[in-house]
Amino acid sequence: MSLLVNNARLLDPTQDCDGPGSLLIVDGCVAAFGPAAGADPRAAGAEVLDAGGKLLCPGLIDLHVHFREPGQTAKETIETGSRAAVAGGFTSVCAMANTKPVNDSVAITEMMLARASKAGLCRYFPLGTVTKGAAGEELTDFGTLKAAGCVAFSDDGLPVMSAAIMRRALEYTAWLDLPVVAHEEELSLVAKGYMHEGSVSSALGCLGIPAAAEEAMVARDIVLAEHSGGHLHLAHLSTKGGFRMVREAKRRGLRVTCEVTPHHFALTDKEMTRFDADFKMNPPLRSQADLEAVLEALADGTVDAIATDHAPHTWDDKEVELVSAAFGVIGLETALPLTLELLVNRKVISLARAIELLSPGPAGVFHLDRQGLGSLRPGSAADFILVDLDGKVTVDRTFIQSKSYNTPFKGWTLPGQVLGTWVAGKRVWG
Ligand SMILES: [Zn+2]
Repeated sequence: MSLLVNNARLLDPTQDCDGPGSLLIVDGCVAAFGPAAGADPRAAGAEVLDAGGKLLCPGLIDLHVHFREPGQTAKETIETGSRAAVAGGFTSVCAMANTKPVNDSVAITEMMLARASKAGLCRYFPLGTVTKGAAGEELTDFGTLKAAGCVAFSDDGLPVMSAAIMRRALEYTAWLDLPVVAHEEELSLVAKGYMHEGSVSSALGCLGIPAAAEEAMVARDIVLAEHSGGHLHLAHLSTKGGFRMVREAKRRGLRVTCEVTPHHFALTDKEMTRFDADFKMNPPLRSQADLEAVLEALADGTVDAIATDHAPHTWDDKEVELVSAAFGVIGLETALPLTLELLVNRKVISLARAIELLSPGPAGVFHLDRQGLGSLRPGSAADFILVDLDGKVTVDRTFIQSKSYNTPFKGWTLPGQVLGTWVAGKRVWG
């Protein structure tokens, strides 16, 4: 089985490459990449595809999705989530453990992996919880979960409130060389808040979640990461102070990484004046100053990855009063178009940096690069996408493949049409 993609604009940040050329795939792996790939003797007899000059880059990798299976399959299943992923150009997803029941056992991990393999679309990497039942009290068996296929540990959806538990988690996972992914909220500061605390929440009379709720926990966990030697990965970082602390931690050489979501670089808390639950998520949409801090951190290298926090909810979960509506938005299909429009076209970052944040960056955080992901160097997995950078997409119900439609970007027209998605050399979308 071989495939030769000719006439592409090849972009691979791991090879410092952005230029015309071809990609040769043999047996699911990259055999040759570059202007001379078509002349490789192994290209003889390969199926040939003309890319028409479109962008060809490594498949995107999402460190943070919620596929709701087991337990809440009315919102999403591993199969429908995987279809949303490949439609959005994602060839690998890392699935959060806050399913029902949570993924704190080998049995659940194996069930998830079997469902994903049956779907046969994207690669699927489960996270295990930090604590049993995500109850924050007793650590899970990290070694056994790693052996079963978990790539990181997180109680995401909830913070690990006990500093002692978080300390032990960072110590034990350090031995296994896997990250602990922290959802940072000091719950006593969150109280009953459901949007960002600031002038907008005051004007609306809504209970706010202060930036300090995130920043206090980021500060605590950076201290614990330093003393334990563990790898702390901060999920969906959203506050100015959070980025300042991560920047400083990185300068000091600590094992601290972070991700940001597209909705936090696209929108601010001003949207809450609509009283529309499609704009309600956790962490909440922040202030303009926080959004500007996100952009600065994306540009200066503080941020390691763009992750969607794809959080599907049914109409019933959202079509209620704002105060009682579920937190979260979907994001797999809109992540690349939003990145292209709001970051690349507005010259916040280069196209190469954007792809780095969506593929080799996240691959490095969860060590998926060791499996040949996030790169198109010869020998890597043949996970790639073809993108029409000028092709426009409109966010409507037919564009969204997810089972749920809780997106704040309804009706937006954006650049960046995913023409095709390949996993291990097999076309899974387009
Ligand atoms: Zn979270």
